[in-house]
Amino acid sequence: MKRLFILVLTTSILIACQEKDTRNPHNLPIANTMEAYLAQVAENPDTELVDLEEVIPDLALYIAYATEDNFTGVPIYTSPKAFLCRPVAMALADVQDSLQKMGLAIKVFDAYRPYAATLYFYEVYPNTTFVADPRRGSIHNRGGAVDLTLINAETGEELEMPTRFDSFSDTASHTFMDLPEHVLENRALLRGVMETFGFYIYEAEWWHYNFTEARTFPLRDISFEDLAKEQSE
Ligand SMILES: [Zn+2]
Repeated sequence: MKRLFILVLTTSILIACQEKDTRNPHNLPIANTMEAYLAQVAENPDTELVDLEEVIPDLALYIAYATEDNFTGVPIYTSPKAFLCRPVAMALADVQDSLQKMGLAIKVFDAYRPYAATLYFYEVYPNTTFVADPRRGSIHNRGGAVDLTLINAETGEELEMPTRFDSFSDTASHTFMDLPEHVLENRALLRGVMETFGFYIYEAEWWHYNFTEARTFPLRDISFEDLAKEQSE
């Protein structure tokens, strides 16, 4: 009886300890140290998070979560950086190339997102249509999703799209058709070029694209600072 009591007590303590991991409360397989990240990259170089500005020259970035201008109302990232797993970054470089012929370019709002941000977003807005369920993590946490729009390559002006970035509304959906013709065309143009290079839509958000193999990339909770430090070494 005494032994059983000790066993129950030990198990309860173990469970309590697991629950205390506030960085990973759902016990997902998340790489949250540089050591774990580098081991993944050594095993599969495709999982390296590449700085988009390194592979896409003159890339227009407006990293909304590094400003107050996002749905949480506070800056989430400490620097306006955009990283994606290597094959995703290369595919996005192809998107940029193909747009050049039309005098257009991409503007990126968000790319790889550390898991800590996904946890916080859900706390602020617990709606899994527009915010990833932290029990599964986001494709952004895998460096396999990008939020973006189209701009005029010369002026930098955004093409008119159905809504602003992160407008959590029905109008943001690809199924929403009650829009001016040129807006429908702009949305379709972005979709066409993204699909050509291996991305696919998320129906509820016109700005969000997942890369085909994205689910094979690991979940990460590594800060932009740590990634930048690693790349400058
Ligand atoms: Zn997104």
